[in-house]
Amino acid sequence: MKLYMIYVYFTRVTVTSVYINWSILYNKPMSELQEYQGKATMEKITSLAKRRGFVFQSSEIYGGQSGAWDYGPLGIELKNRIQAMWWKEMTRLHDNIVGLDASILMHPRTWEASGHVENFTDPLVDCKKCKSRFRADMIPEENLAAKKCPDCGGELTDTRKFNLMFKSHIGPAEDSANIIYLRPETAQGIYVNYKNIIQSNRMKIPFGIAQVGKAFRNEITTKNFIFRTCEFEQMEMQYFVKPGTDVEWFNEWRKQRWAYYEKLGVKMDHLRWHQHGADELAHYAKDAYDIQYLFPMGWRELEGVHNRTDYDLGRHSEFSGKDMQYIDQENNNERYIPYIIETSAGLTRNLLMILCDAYDEEQVAEKGNDDDWRTVLRFHPDLAPITVAILPLMKKDGLAEMAQDIRKELQDDYSTDYDQSGAIGRRYRRQDEAGTPFCVTVDYQSKEDGTVTLRFRDSMEQVRVPRQELAARLRQEIKSYKRTK
Ligand SMILES: [Zn+2]
Repeated sequence: MKLYMIYVYFTRVTVTSVYINWSILYNKPMSELQEYQGKATMEKITSLAKRRGFVFQSSEIYGGQSGAWDYGPLGIELKNRIQAMWWKEMTRLHDNIVGLDASILMHPRTWEASGHVENFTDPLVDCKKCKSRFRADMIPEENLAAKKCPDCGGELTDTRKFNLMFKSHIGPAEDSANIIYLRPETAQGIYVNYKNIIQSNRMKIPFGIAQVGKAFRNEITTKNFIFRTCEFEQMEMQYFVKPGTDVEWFNEWRKQRWAYYEKLGVKMDHLRWHQHGADELAHYAKDAYDIQYLFPMGWRELEGVHNRTDYDLGRHSEFSGKDMQYIDQENNNERYIPYIIETSAGLTRNLLMILCDAYDEEQVAEKGNDDDWRTVLRFHPDLAPITVAILPLMKKDGLAEMAQDIRKELQDDYSTDYDQSGAIGRRYRRQDEAGTPFCVTVDYQSKEDGTVTLRFRDSMEQVRVPRQELAARLRQEIKSYKRTK
């Protein structure tokens, strides 16, 4: 490995050493370090995410708040696009699925009915000596049996149930009559509104309700960047079906959700199904499958498809005293409590998946020359935070003005960026790292014949295009985009 490459590598990663333990990299022997070249790791993705303004640690100037993250200028654009794509897929493309935005704060009886007060717990042990806190199912069994702390060897407490819901009080009095929870899932907001929506929108079974929103879980261990956090966003769709047809719909939704990721253009060999075993099934579920993605840290859940049966609506009937039965007017007013098939995806987790999936390092040196690695995010153009960057070759001679004009023309249809500082090659690399699929360069020839250079992120190829045809050409390139690397 050439010395300067190591230098480049370190300067690249040390920028964000504030919150990443880089000692793991520093302590690697050279041979192992080389293995990282060209590969995505969580360290590199976390570093890039901060450097380019995708994701920042929450309240970083105070040392950071664990389990919480802030989405920067590129991060919010990416998140909005992922959400928009999901929303279109789940509502606009179905004539029997409607949207909802329920509140985060709900009547506390909701969580008694849903079973969360009783069952939404992790087994917890504390070390009496070093005060570390562990999930009992996450530490070695021999430690648990011997009640010995895996960190310091001190004595562990008995295992106790720890409820993952954030609890607070509403109003000035902090007594048990005023308990309020931050919702641990968005689903219940849909269930309590199911009768409202049937009445207001004349929905007939089968039908679905889709919702995107924040949920909160007091996780004992948050880790892997934005993968497991205390505050996160869910994209859920609850599909109400007649009992007896639930298995059929469950299979149908598994098929549709798999097809969705195909459409997103992610690496399909990085996706797989995982069926929940009896020990994993939630208290309400009859059957459950996860779509797992192969993240740099291994296979992890991305989305779940669950058959929640009539559990939730049945419990809400019982706890609220309101009749939650559906009346089938087309079928002799037959009454039943619908079964629910749920597709539950993490929005912020999807964003991490998209970042990992798009991340690439590519050797672009000409044969015989020194190594030259470029970092590139190969986002689908529909997801890329910036669709097109406009770069004048020089600031002077009217090139900057012409570039600004072109930007204004494109702004209405595309998200654009403008960059006039630094060597053009370096500017291209900056856009590669932000995942910008197209760059438009204005040079001296542009002034003469009205053509500009269109440069493609993935192939790094460049073609000359008449300025008037630029918008149409971009539209066509986006529509026909196929990821090749
Ligand atoms: Zn300890």
